[in-house]
Amino acid sequence: MTTTQFLPGRSAGLDRLNAFVPRAGHGYATGRNTDPGPGADGAVSRLSPHVRYRLVTEAEVVAAVLARHSQAAAEKFVQEVLWRTYWKGWLELRPGVWTRFCEDRDRQRDSMPTTGALAAAEAGATGIDGFDDWARELVATGWLHNHARMWFASIWIFTLRLPWALGADFFLRHLVDADAASNTLSWRWVAGLQTPGKTYLATADNIARYTDGRYAPQGLAQEAVALVEPPVGSAAALPMPAAPDPRRASLLLVTPEDLHPESVIAGAAVVAGAVVVAGDDWLWGDTARGFVHASAAETAARIGAQFGCPVDVVSRIDAAALLAAARACGATQVVTPYAPVGPVADALAQFAPALAREGVTLATVRRSWDTLFWPHATKGFFPFRERIPALLRTAGFA
Ligand SMILES: Cc1cc2nc3c(=O)[nH]c(=O)nc-3n(C[C@H](O)[C@H](O)[C@H](O)COP(=O)(O)OP(=O)(O)OC[C@H]3O[C@@H](n4cnc5c(N)ncnc54)[C@H](O)[C@@H]3O)c2cc1C
Repeated sequence: MTTTQFLPGRSAGLDRLNAFVPRAGHGYATGRNTDPGPGADGAVSRLSPHVRYRLVTEAEVVAAVLARHSQAAAEKFVQEVLWRTYWKGWLELRPGVWTRFCEDRDRQRDSMPTTGALAAAEAGATGIDGFDDWARELVATGWLHNHARMWFASIWIFTLRLPWALGADFFLRHLVDADAASNTLSWRWVAGLQTPGKTYLATADNIARYTDGRYAPQGLAQEAVALVEPPVGSAAALPMPAAPDPRRASLLLVTPEDLHPESVIAGAAVVAGAVVVAGDDWLWGDTARGFVHASAAETAARIGAQFGCPVDVVSRIDAAALLAAARACGATQVVTPYAPVGPVADALAQFAPALAREGVTLATVRRSWDTLFWPHATKGFFPFRERIPALLRTAGFA
């Protein structure tokens, strides 16, 4: 197996986590910025596809690492995991930023010629050392090292002067871990929109240093002037999910937003049946679809065994099919893990009234990790980071 192949499913994610845990201390902190290129291990965990679809949760990753290392030794790794939690919370408190990205992307797509600079960037045919290889690596493998993602986004925006939303869209269509919050907000951070005025400039020296001299691109932009946009507005309160009625027979709806539903639903509802939706319409690219399809089959087998109920796996679902699945198992309630901002949340918002008209309620259960951390994603990462030790204590990590 090359390191850039990601074995689907929770058990493969747990194997990867267990293999990584011994390296989560000093080795990670000192080596994480180096991108050794495709096919080489490097210091990072490559857990992102499993974490993205919650085959393995942030809480499990942090628990495994802190069982082996002191908080001081694992501080850097835990902070990186918490970057994901922070991005998810930040977008949850400002859902309009996702809507704005989708609108910008659609407008740019309509106005940009599909040939020329955009096509050359996506095909890895710009002549820029490193950048072209990363474009091809992304398409071929579905993954890039974090530093390569930063260099790529910076060169896309400041050297090639292409619209950031189309770069974010290119990533969404190819990353196996494509995620509404982590991807959109990271691109915005590079562009100087997320922390207004603060941009990320990729330099030849930095690229050469952290690629072990493989690349030293010439002609990169020498300055990165922040992009501007209308104000985003302040953070809203975290929405309260509609909790399930534990006495009602329920259909468990599983989506790519949480493929380990038994750890959040067990005890909250009487599960009479389940439908696992691989979500072809809710994902942006074929690499992600392939990973989720294969993972969904394993999730279905697990929840069938846990709840002793029939489980269907489908590629997509609409309100009528969901209602039929609920009726087939005698459920008057559909229960699903909370879906954060993105296409699944949009679909659920459409399903709820259609189900309600037929007397079926849609209830969601949010993970305690999210409820604990997300409300603190009101400002930048650094004030959030200050709270991490206290919040980890509240979460039960001494
Ligand atoms: C422009 C850009 C786009 C990105 N798009 C995505 C995306 O769509 N989906 C996605 O999951 N990540 C995204 N990231 C974040 C990051 O690059 C990946 O999560 C990381 O490369 C995953 O590698 P790893 O699992 O080896 O991480 P490790 O370094 O081993 O970290 C462990 C886990 O922490 C989380 N994490 C680490 N760094 C970050 C970070 N900077 N932001 C958010 N979470 C982090 C991931 O879940 C990761 O699996 C993006 C970053 C940039 C700069």
